Amino acid sequence: MAEAEGLQEACGVFGVVAGGEWPTTLDVAHTTAFALVGLQHRGQESAGIVTSYGDDPHKIFCHKEMGLVNTVFDDHALSRLKGNLAIGHTRYSTAGGSQLVNCQPFVVDTMHGLIAVAHNGELVNAKMLREKVLQRGVGLSTKSDSELMTQLLCLSPPESEESGPDWPARIRQFMSESQTSYCVLLYFGDKIYAFRDPYGNRPLCLGKLMGSPGGRISDSQNDNAECDGYVVSSESCVFTCIGAAYHREVLPGEIVEISRSGFKSVCVVPRAEDRKAAFCIFEYVYFARPDSIFEGQMVYNARFRCGEMLAKELPVKADLVSTVPESATPAALGFSKQAGIPYVEVLCKNRYVGRTFIQPSLRLRQIGVAKKFGPLTENFRGKRVVLIDDSIVRGNTMAPIVGLLKQSGAKEVHVRVASPPIKYPCYMGINIPTKEELIANKLSLDKLSVYLGADSVGYLSVDGLVTAVQEGIPNKTKGTGHCTACLTANYPVELEW
Ligand code: SF4
Repeated sequence: MAEAEGLQEACGVFGVVAGGEWPTTLDVAHTTAFALVGLQHRGQESAGIVTSYGDDPHKIFCHKEMGLVNTVFDDHALSRLKGNLAIGHTRYSTAGGSQLVNCQPFVVDTMHGLIAVAHNGELVNAKMLREKVLQRGVGLSTKSDSELMTQLLCLSPPESEESGPDWPARIRQFMSESQTSYCVLLYFGDKIYAFRDPYGNRPLCLGKLMGSPGGRISDSQNDNAECDGYVVSSESCVFTCIGAAYHREVLPGEIVEISRSGFKSVCVVPRAEDRKAAFCIFEYVYFARPDSIFEGQMVYNARFRCGEMLAKELPVKADLVSTVPESATPAALGFSKQAGIPYVEVLCKNRYVGRTFIQPSLRLRQIGVAKKFGPLTENFRGKRVVLIDDSIVRGNTMAPIVGLLKQSGAKEVHVRVASPPIKYPCYMGINIPTKEELIANKLSLDKLSVYLGADSVGYLSVDGLVTAVQEGIPNKTKGTGHCTACLTANYPVELEW
């Protein structure tokens, strides 16, 4: 329910390069549009696709607009996006406003030809980098840190460049200047470069188009095994619908070159020796689709274990376990299994209401909730309900829901939250309300319980969350690590704020 309360992911990226001989019969524009629909949960403000034949660095096709993927790309728009390779982007704005000028991919003309850049994340040292770029006489037309990154990549060609731009060297240079947070696709010529910041803050994975859509997960560990095409995506959930098999993740700090002959790992740029990786733990809690795979485990299973852990930490005597549909369902099922209390649905969601905007008064919030959820009264009348949510941000949606259940006959409502209290801002790509707006900074647990009208309330601990997530990671390495800064104020890098 975090989205309704103002917690927003900040973009999804996707890229595809047709394999084998070119010209290809693969429709890279439709493939990208289908994938972007699968990444729609990562950004709903705008969408864009750039395509190219890959034989002329001065010729690309680009279409980007404000709006959802399905409204931005109709058949006419897609038919004009021709080529053998493509990159695409869905956006929710953090740095830079929600305007057409900030839509991605960013396209910039250089002396060597056009480049296009799609970025997920937020540069923690954007202010310093902006000054540096401006001091070098480069104008910036937006406040977007993605435009800033694009210009930085165009600047400072390393001394060794004699026969055209050395993009890996430029990317390494950029990575040495900014360590987080970014997953980026850079298109130039007949290649896409995919790179992930050394902290691995946002997700990025590789896949192979193996023919018709299906459910295959991992067909080949060989980077260059023949296939219809090579894809890169913020999340693996899109692979099934485009007929791709999951290959592997892009490693923190890794630069991968994607061409018609396959993936080539160019290098892995290290982070500071004393620092751990900082993959955003909220990708597991809420942002990502449950069918995506991160760090070798399915997000759904991590959420299920968070629910189990919550039941161990905060048991409660009750008749049934339920949830606010539907992002916390895996956690509710985990709680139910661990507690031995049946899972029963208590709310029916009206799928046509759309987004719940933040309402200014309790009465309007109650109307908003009543419009969105119908109580399944016979399932819980006279019963003690444990209501699971994935997170509480402002707390203004949960109170009317608890009220609705109580008015409809619930004997008791105990709220359990499958993540710890959110107390601090995120500077790495997630839009979190101000410190003052966060309910965890305003009310103690007792007062929160009264505010929500609940019989009790409890959050999963930080240790519980980290344990539940890390338990499912196979082959944990020294570098495994997760950002928990919005819960603990332990930011993975020095901030410039
Ligand atoms: S501060 Fe929170 S939301 Fe931001 S990257 Fe870290 S865990 Fe994710």
